[in-house]
Amino acid sequence: MKLFIASYLTETNTWSPIPTGRNAFVVDKPFYHTDGSRAPASGANGPLIVWRRNAERDGHEIVESICASTEPSAAIVRRVYEEFRDMLLDDLRAALPVDGVMLFLHGAMVAEGYDDCEGDVLSRVRAIVGPKVVVGVELDLHCHLTPEICDNAIPVIFKEYPHIDGA
Ligand SMILES: [Zn+2]
Repeated sequence: MKLFIASYLTETNTWSPIPTGRNAFVVDKPFYHTDGSRAPASGANGPLIVWRRNAERDGHEIVESICASTEPSAAIVRRVYEEFRDMLLDDLRAALPVDGVMLFLHGAMVAEGYDDCEGDVLSRVRAIVGPKVVVGVELDLHCHLTPEICDNAIPVIFKEYPHIDGA
């Protein structure tokens, strides 16, 4: 099987006065494109490392997109959110056909113009892969579980706080 994986997350604090800009993802935290699962474990890439290891052990092909994350701050600047989202979606289109999609998202990510980033990402992923491909999403237990998430993917949520069970 060919499996598409990516990680794109932050836990937005809409009360914060500080917008989340591009540097929050690419300077404050390590940003990876196609090779996050081969980097030292840092939290955001924990599931990617496990997914690649298990898939390759079982003879499956992995196509990996972005690994982007940052700490809580106010809503993501719209063009920044869309840039990383579209990078992920472009990679998915280029990888077609795929048998499965596995994404590590947060579940409480907000951008300017997008109150439910995860629902937005997963709706677009579903539109690209069609109704039959399995789409799984790993979410933080602090997520907002919206209909747009549940209608387009199978959510798996951390159980532990502190988050010791993400990977
Ligand atoms: Zn959390």
